[in-house]
Amino acid sequence: MKQLAQRARAVQPSATLQASQRAKALMASGVDVINLGVGQPDFQTPVAIKQAAIRAIEADQVDGYTATTGIAPLRQAVADHLQATQNVTVTADQVVVTTGAKMALYALFQVMLDPGDDVLLPAPYWVSYAEQIRLAGGHVLEVAPTADLKVTPAQLDSAVTPATKAIVLNSPQNPSGVVYTPDELKAIGEWAVAHDLWIVSDEIYGDLVYDRPAPEPSMLTLSDAITDHTIVINGVSKTYAMTGWRIGWVIGPKAVTAALGKVLSHMTGNPAAVSQYAALDALTGDQASVTKMNASFQERLDTIYPLLTALPGFKLVAKPQGAFYLFPDVREAMAIKHCTTTSEFVTRVLEEAHVAVVPGEAFGLPQHIRMSYAADRDQLLTAMTRLKEFMQS
Ligand code: PLP
Repeated sequence: MKQLAQRARAVQPSATLQASQRAKALMASGVDVINLGVGQPDFQTPVAIKQAAIRAIEADQVDGYTATTGIAPLRQAVADHLQATQNVTVTADQVVVTTGAKMALYALFQVMLDPGDDVLLPAPYWVSYAEQIRLAGGHVLEVAPTADLKVTPAQLDSAVTPATKAIVLNSPQNPSGVVYTPDELKAIGEWAVAHDLWIVSDEIYGDLVYDRPAPEPSMLTLSDAITDHTIVINGVSKTYAMTGWRIGWVIGPKAVTAALGKVLSHMTGNPAAVSQYAALDALTGDQASVTKMNASFQERLDTIYPLLTALPGFKLVAKPQGAFYLFPDVREAMAIKHCTTTSEFVTRVLEEAHVAVVPGEAFGLPQHIRMSYAADRDQLLTAMTRLKEFMQS
């Protein structure tokens, strides 16, 4: 049999999905595993959103293909939501609705990158960026962060090359929950403008912030020059507990959204129609469920943070301010348990403490592990007890 393509052989599977599958396999064999490896809210999609989807089905609105770039009312709703929450004006044709933010990013790198183009990727970073950049023929320039897990223009200066075309920013950040201040983002944005780079701003966790007002200011609020260079990625997955519905979007200059429309017409055709109607209701309906979920995440963070930082060998530079992840440095914990790699440490945590977490290797910072606190309070408390016993055994 002929070999598969080089790109298929080179791509790494998603480490977060793999970690979750290992946990599920152990659970299926009867072990009581607490899964802190997942990257999705543990809430159900709000009932009103589900009902809007049912109404759309019953009204025969979802039986045919839709426009590739999404139904007109949803594109307009994304634009209106941006106006209402960020005071930023865009037109509906600057919005492209996609099959989740993951597809938004994949399609974006396809339209943006030529083989050999470099993309600056500050570490730690979400697992799929690097693989998606490579799948588009691009080359990843990882930028090591400062101790607070952020990057500065000075660090970007030493990483940028003449072949650099874009920088990927993600605040609030997966895997660390770190949130850049508007001033920090502005400094990076101005630096990117000075180098004439595209800024890919993944704002999928922008509504999930703690100890501060939500949502976080978008990159599009910082200056006109930054806006001209910025392409925002967002979606309903995290804010509305809708990961399974697969709706995300791109907001950017018309030349970008037009090119995305062409490419997506050969990739997805359109995002699932029923999901688009559900997302329309999410954006235009009552936002009380968002506030409620946020309050719950805040409470869990406040519960788990002091317990986690008290674990032997687990270090966090600061309390996370967004998303639903903790990303402790576990170098000392690994030494205590005589583990040489984080993958080995994570395997032992799963097999001995029955807690599933993700190794930092996948996020560009091998000395860390990612733990999601999208789990109920009792499970989080039990997980912390198990980890404490594991570290003391
Ligand atoms: N961007 C980041 C930083 C994420 O963490 C995720 C999901 O985990 C996504 C994008 C993709 O989200 P979606 O479910 O909309 O594809």
